[in-house]
Amino acid sequence: MKDKKPRFETEVIHFGYHAENHQGSLVPPLYQTSTFTFESAEQGERRFAGKEEGYIYSRLGNPTVKILEDRMAALEKGEAALAFSSGMAAVSAVLIALTKSGDHILCSQGVYGCTFGLLELLQEKYHIEHDFSLMDTRETLENQIKPNTACIYIETPINPTMKLVDLQMVADVAKEKGIPVIVDNTFCSPYLQNPITNGCDIVIHSATKYICGHGDVIAGIVVGGRETINQISRTTQKDIGGIISPFDAWLLLRGLKSLPVRMDRHCENTTFLFDFLKQHPKVEAIYYPGDSEHPDYAIMKKQMKKPGGLISFSIKGTKETAQRFMNQLNLIKIAVSLGDAETLIQHPATMTHAVVPDEERLKMGINQTLLRLSVGLEAWEDIKEDLEQAFDKI
Ligand code: PLP
Repeated sequence: MKDKKPRFETEVIHFGYHAENHQGSLVPPLYQTSTFTFESAEQGERRFAGKEEGYIYSRLGNPTVKILEDRMAALEKGEAALAFSSGMAAVSAVLIALTKSGDHILCSQGVYGCTFGLLELLQEKYHIEHDFSLMDTRETLENQIKPNTACIYIETPINPTMKLVDLQMVADVAKEKGIPVIVDNTFCSPYLQNPITNGCDIVIHSATKYICGHGDVIAGIVVGGRETINQISRTTQKDIGGIISPFDAWLLLRGLKSLPVRMDRHCENTTFLFDFLKQHPKVEAIYYPGDSEHPDYAIMKKQMKKPGGLISFSIKGTKETAQRFMNQLNLIKIAVSLGDAETLIQHPATMTHAVVPDEERLKMGINQTLLRLSVGLEAWEDIKEDLEQAFDKI
């Protein structure tokens, strides 16, 4: 048993924590401290000089946070990880660490609205340009990589249209050109997809979502090779300072324990609701990677364990019809975010992607009647009945 590597369902509960080092406490203790005392001035000097291991100040490292980081690195099959105060703190720390003025970032055709905002800011203020690519074939990708492309940035499934990108294909092309590939794996969690095993280099999570799972923390995670993680830790994390609080790390460790159980239930509920929505006469189009008619179904089968807990669908009618439908819902809450126990619905065109200009948003496939449903852990029949009565009223 000692030499055998435990399975994912065991690692989410145990990896990186040794009770014997913490007075036997079953649960990892919360080190709610901003700083650490040194035994002597000389010890402080040695720690600052990197000649002695040990904690200095919680922006530079904290024992509760470290357990979370080690566990997330193991779950994503990376060498090391860093935790941040939000998903966007993680995204910005990675992109700023990997680029410099004059560089180019190639992105999947569709990214989270604030990631889009960050890309625009980098372009306007620091001359770091970007392009969006369908990344649907090797050829498309090769044609869009420029001599100054510093990194490739991917969301898959793409928020909120559920298009997929073939991670292995992108990683193969990028490797030939020596370009690192970053994947925002928020929609899948490490339970459904591990981009590093497909050859990608860095994985980002808005840990606010499935990692937390209870809707009470905003946080981000970055996983990658040790050298890259050290570089981010020493530069953008340390000096920009978007670190996670020890209490939020503690809550994430608590949430993580049930990740596989929750994901199985999210995924199962979603397949039932897909069957209901797919045949509903008031639904114009439906976007779900588990749909065998989804153009990227084969990619889903190849790189995802299950199709996930999100469905987007457009309603027949106008923006007002979509908003009226949302206003009729009772159990399902109108809110951005995803991955919580509660089922949530949002209107991407006026909410998560409101900052994206109309033309760009339409290119991403987001129209005014598109809704995104984050399927929760309630009884799926109750979620279906809520949708049903709202459809009846429009
Ligand atoms: N990436 C994706 C795919 C998201 O959906 C979000 C937030 O909704 C983020 C990143 C940003 O995460 P946070 O809100 O934790 O900063």
